[in-house]
Amino acid sequence: MMDPMAGRLAGKRAVVTGGAQGIGAAIARRLAAEGARVAVLDLDGARAAAVLDAPHLGLACDVTDSASVDAAFAAVAEAFGRIDVLVNNAGIGSAPGDGMAEYYAGQAAQAAGDAGARADQTIHCTDAGWSAVLAVTLDGVFRCSRAAVRIMAARDDGGQGGAIVNIGSTAALAGNGPVPYVTAKAAVLGLTRAMARELAPRGIRVNAVNPGATETPIYAPLPQAVKDAVAADSLLKRLAHPDEVAGAVAYLASADASFATGSTINVNGGAWFS
Ligand code: NDP
Repeated sequence: MMDPMAGRLAGKRAVVTGGAQGIGAAIARRLAAEGARVAVLDLDGARAAAVLDAPHLGLACDVTDSASVDAAFAAVAEAFGRIDVLVNNAGIGSAPGDGMAEYYAGQAAQAAGDAGARADQTIHCTDAGWSAVLAVTLDGVFRCSRAAVRIMAARDDGGQGGAIVNIGSTAALAGNGPVPYVTAKAAVLGLTRAMARELAPRGIRVNAVNPGATETPIYAPLPQAVKDAVAADSLLKRLAHPDEVAGAVAYLASADASFATGSTINVNGGAWFS
């Protein structure tokens, strides 16, 4: 039986950042399955290129570096002729110096019975640690959106039509995560709304998806007990599969969401309502 969703993105040209693994790879495969030609961008170009075969693309791109972003987007525009869809997926939860090592040490000491132990992050977070998380998780979204919109705006039609989907996090709503990460993800939701207002006259829609805990390589090495504790936070008592996040992204990227802009879809099993 033919998949009723196949072809929903036929003819579209899409870019997915941080697409070499996890949620980004699932998004890239889903957009391709629905008919889009997809450029997968990631730090390691070879890993990015391994996600999808030609005529899709895989390119090296560091979203913290404007020159790298602009070069990658120019290469995509050259190869594809246009960009219709951007998925800002690249993000990191933690970076050296952000205080999470001390936070986990405090948690372990508490678990070991040290009543005086504190699980602190902020007092240990260095400027470099703070900036490193925001450089990928927030600034990267801005840089890639700017590059994509410049290309959309330069089209013969003046940049009429397009979709940007930003990957936020349930952590942005619940506050349950590393402080710089939660801050960056909350800001991504603000950026989504501001860009939705700005770009509506061009017919470019900007929306966000907030995943809850999702079974990606981050979780693979963790003991089952830790996964179970995370799963217990959701009403559905499990982690999300990356394909469940990808489905929401494909919807927002498609014409099925033609009246959705500035909106956010939570895919978190009911872990948090907003
Ligand atoms: P992963 O860490 O599995 O994948 C992220 C990818 O982004 C990796 O391939 C990574 O490359 C790449 N990346 C890291 N830094 C950069 C950079 N500077 N430029 C380009 N690419 C980069 O993440 P997930 O799939 O788990 O998460 C994807 C998105 O979903 C993130 O924004 C995350 O915050 C969000 N999210 C994830 C949740 C989860 O439970 N997994 C929950 C809520 C939100 P490398 O491996 O080489 O570093």
